[in-house]
Amino acid sequence: MSGETTAAATADEGPEDAAADAGAQGAAANGGRAAGDRPVLEAVHVTKHFPVRGGLPRRGGTRRVVHAVDDVSLSLYAGRITALVGESGSGKSTLARLLAQLYPLTSGEVRLHGKRVQAMRGKAFREHVRTVQLILQDPFASFNPVASIAGTLKRAVALHHPGKRGRERIAIIDDLLTQINLTPPRQFTEKFPHELSGGQLQRISIARALAADPEVFLADEPVSSLDVSIRLGILNLLRRLTEERNAAMLYVTHDIASARYFAADTAVMYAGQVVETGPSEAVTQQAAHPYTQLLIASAPDPSRAGGDRVRDIGQPPSLIDPPAGCRFHPRCPYAMERCKTDVPKSFEISAGHAAKCWLYADDPEARAKRADNAQIVADLTAPTASS
Ligand code: SF4
Repeated sequence: MSGETTAAATADEGPEDAAADAGAQGAAANGGRAAGDRPVLEAVHVTKHFPVRGGLPRRGGTRRVVHAVDDVSLSLYAGRITALVGESGSGKSTLARLLAQLYPLTSGEVRLHGKRVQAMRGKAFREHVRTVQLILQDPFASFNPVASIAGTLKRAVALHHPGKRGRERIAIIDDLLTQINLTPPRQFTEKFPHELSGGQLQRISIARALAADPEVFLADEPVSSLDVSIRLGILNLLRRLTEERNAAMLYVTHDIASARYFAADTAVMYAGQVVETGPSEAVTQQAAHPYTQLLIASAPDPSRAGGDRVRDIGQPPSLIDPPAGCRFHPRCPYAMERCKTDVPKSFEISAGHAAKCWLYADDPEARAKRADNAQIVADLTAPTASS
């Protein structure tokens, strides 16, 4: 990319990298929420159905819809990162947009500090945007290509700091760029988006979000479109900012391995529903739901003996006509008759760790299937002889 500079390359590699271990230890030490902590932002039984184009009902029928998100509850806490993991089309980005109030809900509630939010337009929407900032996957698509970085940031500063003028605005922009480690700021402010690398531009989009001084970041696949070499720097920057500002963060990703590294809590989404939740360490190291196990087993890991034995067990279902019962049952090697008809309830696996799966019911058939599952997972995750 033509605009790559030495200073910026340093920023992309991430000066936060050196602090990563300290950050990880801090997160581990801080590992549980204090009793009585209240969520900053919540989805409460949130459902979103999109009408299908041309899907008008036949006489007496109902209109066809895409079940993008169905009955999802999720809480975000101050100073804490929650990962929302799933494959493409699982509904995770839609949920982030529902929390940002970009779509109206079909049912359920979004709550900010315990109060129901209905802020689709006008002053209420602007207030919500000030508190809850979305960071998008593709930084190139989220900037005006003919506006300089200074112009883009000036707009954000004018919007969120209307009382500031002239030098005060420039001082705020300099401070924002310093916070995201693009220094000296003047080296970047006169550039245009195409003159910056993907990593630099994602840092600028984070600076734009910071201009609002938000309480919540909704980061939708913030590093997926970036080179692998610069992802860690961006994730460490997001973590540092979350900790310093005691902000809440939703980290939307398809990469369950990064969820373990980056987030305190993880929720796994499949076909519009959350199927497993808990501390990231528990969800990734003792995955309980067969779909979470599949995600983990599908991630490349040369140290695992069974990595190459993961079977292709089909594609996600149509969300226009999702399977009855457990939506994963057509792909699940452990499916029982009840899985085809009854929606699984949530079973507690360990403290704070829960899975919606009939394997954890207390009856002989479920116990036998659970034992099969435990054996297969142990074989898959065993280290290779050489490791
Ligand atoms: Fe498999 Fe049944 Fe569990 Fe669904 S509820 S993941 S089909 S065992």
